Amino acid sequence: MSLEKRNLYRLPWSLNDNPIAWLEVTDVCNLRCEGCYRSTLTGHKPLEQIKEELRFFKRWRNPDNVSIAGGEPLLHPDILEIISFIAELEMKPIVLTNAVKLTPEYLVELKNAGLAGFTIHIDSHQSRPGWEDKTEAAHNELRQFYADMIHKVGGLYTIFNATVYPSTFEAIPDMVQWGHQNFNKVQGLVFITYRTAATDTYDAIDVSSQRVDMSQLSYISESFNEEFVTGPEVYDKIKSICSEYEAAGYLGGTQRHDSYKWLISAVIGSKHGVYGSVGKKGMEIAQLLHHFFKGTYLAYLSSSRIGPLAFSLWPWDPVVRKALGKRLKDLLFHPWRLFSPVNLQSIGIIQAPDLQESGLADMCDSCPDMTVYDGKLINSCRMDEYRLFGGMVSVVDKHNIEGR
Ligand code: SF4
Repeated sequence: MSLEKRNLYRLPWSLNDNPIAWLEVTDVCNLRCEGCYRSTLTGHKPLEQIKEELRFFKRWRNPDNVSIAGGEPLLHPDILEIISFIAELEMKPIVLTNAVKLTPEYLVELKNAGLAGFTIHIDSHQSRPGWEDKTEAAHNELRQFYADMIHKVGGLYTIFNATVYPSTFEAIPDMVQWGHQNFNKVQGLVFITYRTAATDTYDAIDVSSQRVDMSQLSYISESFNEEFVTGPEVYDKIKSICSEYEAAGYLGGTQRHDSYKWLISAVIGSKHGVYGSVGKKGMEIAQLLHHFFKGTYLAYLSSSRIGPLAFSLWPWDPVVRKALGKRLKDLLFHPWRLFSPVNLQSIGIIQAPDLQESGLADMCDSCPDMTVYDGKLINSCRMDEYRLFGGMVSVVDKHNIEGR
């Protein structure tokens, strides 16, 4: 199916009713990823302030889960208490981590504190000690190491995310195929396209129209002469190796009608292969039922073992119908596979902010990753602009000024 907004479900998420709350507990990190949005400015956030922000989310955001982010959140000295507090407030705590600190013993402690799962960021642009020269595909070995470790402890769901650079775009199929070989251990994959603004091209101005030194921001580079990868290109790349993959839901942009900032899908498969995907209608039913029964929209599957349940959407969803047909055909020829678990695995594609000619950035409409700053909800990817310059900056193309 071609990627058309009318073939996708526009996720019903909004500012005040959004399944995700983005809690930043520290800006300290033990790695230096090229695509990082955060500079180290203030260190670990005090526990009382974190609790206050969590109460704020509960009141104003109605989240299903809280993404505990940083920096590296596992470096925060009170991380276990933070996780317990989130669980007490009846939200699902999810740690976004580079996994460097994870050990089997520590996993048990995190689980006992109430952790629901992880989003683990691994890619080849993180300058990981010992992994600097390895390809993106070779990093599957590291992904496997952590997927096995978490699976052994059990009861925690695991999503892997990677920033997609022009140089790693061709490796996407390797990551997807690895994910599909681990249907029982990996509940999701997320691809985030790299963005930067180069100081040889742009100048930045703050909210009071003063020129600012944007090189202080971690996501600014001196120059960048490559073409950025887009969300639809990532979609096509995945499709090129997995025709059963379909996107089901999307979020558009705040500036452009034709951007696909979030594309989400749920793939149905087992260790014997991919059967198909959930389509637009299935995604709509899942969001609405979750909201009806639980009071919140849905972002993360709390279990991948609900593959068989996804098949029950077949009367309403032609994409699921196709997947069910493939499953039944498979069973006809291999009836013993009836006892192999069928899993769901989500694939998310996020196209990071794109600078427009107006000087503004095309952000994700109904941004799911909003955080609290100074008593307000703001896009977490731009928080350092608030911290350094008092608000979002806009840019001016130096060449345009020179040409005037
Ligand atoms: S706008 Fe929101 S969802 Fe999009 S990249 Fe920024 S923080 Fe993430």
